[in-house]
Amino acid sequence: MRVYVMTLFPEMVESTLHNSITGRAMDDGRLELCCVNIRDFSKDKNGRVDDYPFGGGAGMVIEADPVYDCYRYILDKTGPDCPVIALSPKGQTFSQTKAKELSTEDQMILLCGHYEGIDQRVLDRIVTDYISIGDYVLTGGELAACVLVDCISRLIPGVLGNQESAGSESFENDLLEYPQYTRPQEWNGERVPEILLSGNHRLIEEWRLEKSIERTRNLRPDMFRRALPGLKRSLSNRLKRKLLKPEENCDKLS
Ligand code: SAM
Repeated sequence: MRVYVMTLFPEMVESTLHNSITGRAMDDGRLELCCVNIRDFSKDKNGRVDDYPFGGGAGMVIEADPVYDCYRYILDKTGPDCPVIALSPKGQTFSQTKAKELSTEDQMILLCGHYEGIDQRVLDRIVTDYISIGDYVLTGGELAACVLVDCISRLIPGVLGNQESAGSESFENDLLEYPQYTRPQEWNGERVPEILLSGNHRLIEEWRLEKSIERTRNLRPDMFRRALPGLKRSLSNRLKRKLLKPEENCDKLS
């Protein structure tokens, strides 16, 4: 997958993503990151790309021209029909489902705003999708772009060492992941749950499902409500009795 990032601060994105798993994905050629500096398309002799907002108000707005020229420069490489995603607090909230959808793209362009944002006319012209990473305001879209690239790239086949780890994680089937433990077996007087040392894979799987259900029910009741119909369809009667509360196991809630 090739990801173009239109930004005023390319080093913020590059220095974050050239590490750990995303860094390795780039070394392996599974992920290609091309940061393009919007400032390189400024026609101002001092490289200025922002101006005061019409109508007054605080802050500066990034002008349409450098953003559009930067986009056209990238478009020469991608060809038409490449999704252009603007990082914006006004966008659709990013989710694991959206990450999965985007992980099937061969290429995409991410547009990072800064200051008070970008002139609406160029956004209307080029953006295909707006994504927010949460209901709060960042100083710029760069960290949000890193969040997207990090999350999407680990869903690209071969990026994670063990593909299973992407399949059993939080948000799969609307359940949070079960607790994880590693050596030593006893730490500060606390032992790892015995079942995990039993070698009985069927019982371990059942225990993990039980813990996932408990965690999701307690920590994310909204998510648990979404998971419930699927659980009721897929669990055996024995597991439904064991893992669900009687009131969850009746038809009214599904
Ligand atoms: N004036 C804008 C508003 O009220 O919606 C906020 C602009 S913000 C200070 C500057 C840039 O940060 C935005 O253009 C956007 O690219 C990015 N940004 C801020 N919060 C974000 C969020 N929650 N998700 C994604 N991008 C965000």
